[in-house]
Amino acid sequence: MNTNDVIKLFDEYVIGNYSRLPRVIVRGQGSYIYDADGGKILDLFPGWAVSGIGHCHPKVVKAIQQQAKLLLHMDNTFYTELQGRLAQMLSQRAFGGKCFFCNSGAEANEAALKLARISTEKKKYKYITAFGSFHGRTFGAMTATAQPKKFESFQPVVPGFVYVPFNDVDALKKAFDDEVAAVMIEPIQGEGGVHVATPEYMRAIRQLCDKTGARMILDEVQTGMGRTGKWFGYQHFDVVPDIITLSKTLGGGVAIGAMMAKPEIAASLVPGTHASTFGGNCIACAAAVATIEAIDEEAMIENSQKMGQYAADKLSQLKAKYSVIDHIRGKGLMIGIQLKAPGAQIVADCLKNGLRINCTQDTVLRFMPAMNVTAKQIDEAVKILDNVLKNIG
Ligand SMILES: *Cc1c(COP(=O)(O)O)cnc(C)c1O
Repeated sequence: MNTNDVIKLFDEYVIGNYSRLPRVIVRGQGSYIYDADGGKILDLFPGWAVSGIGHCHPKVVKAIQQQAKLLLHMDNTFYTELQGRLAQMLSQRAFGGKCFFCNSGAEANEAALKLARISTEKKKYKYITAFGSFHGRTFGAMTATAQPKKFESFQPVVPGFVYVPFNDVDALKKAFDDEVAAVMIEPIQGEGGVHVATPEYMRAIRQLCDKTGARMILDEVQTGMGRTGKWFGYQHFDVVPDIITLSKTLGGGVAIGAMMAKPEIAASLVPGTHASTFGGNCIACAAAVATIEAIDEEAMIENSQKMGQYAADKLSQLKAKYSVIDHIRGKGLMIGIQLKAPGAQIVADCLKNGLRINCTQDTVLRFMPAMNVTAKQIDEAVKILDNVLKNIG
């Protein structure tokens, strides 16, 4: 089938809830994807951070192939070694927590919201989340997502949510009371435009939660697994959360989500309170274990730090050349370029020239390259962006 045939299939049979770029992708390797017309695209936004160690990492592919011969799926009626080992690997890299596995970021957040309610005393029920956040599209996660345009056509939404401006300690204190079950934020807002939490804000959340026994939940679906230059985003701060949620890069390209909670909190999730049929299945766990091993063996966290700095420096040189760039922000390989004008045309023009990046909140160009991206690939990307900006004028 050629590109037009595939697009026709979609027009006829696939629900149109995504605005798709007009390419059919057939193959991916590392930081490159290849389309049905023989085009090669440098992908600096691989899978929205799902392919965070590059497309089709050989170690992950091999682990999946080997596991597929043994057992594709085993339900949680029994034990499987891989799920246990994956939980151990995550626990040892975070705060010694215990894990629950599911299949996506939204599901991980739903688990965290439920755990906060069931584990707090006196039926605490309120949740505080921050404007500009993104937590997923299921009803609870969507209501947690404090971007009213994303939920206003689905009213009534889940009760109990209170929204505050991100990084505003005073507003947080004002909104906080005894009935709050949890404060949930992203250590770096991703979809909201790459906004990094301040140390004071993180500390204030921790202190308020400690005072009443509310849970501090960090949505690390995007910041987790090393992209920011540490395993988890919270490790840039001097606070330890009660619960973190993971997905995206965790499975190296395979669908998996996880919630990790401090053991004493996790203990509330007794049989009958929560479950996921596919959660922690064999293929996903094999892929996730291989992903973590690859990140360690290939020093990808160090590379995220180094390449993050390298990319930020290169992009700053563009800022000096083009007044449309206001400033550059982020951490490691989570980079946002704040523009003074909408960025959709820039993204489309980059793609025409073989570079895939993203634009969020209309005016923020987003780079989230694979954690094994090279300096040469960043140079290639910056050159394309430079040309695009030159022609836009
Ligand atoms: C992508 C994302 C989610 C939602 O993940 P899904 O797998 O699409 O449900 C939640 N939180 C953050 C921070 C994300 O980046």
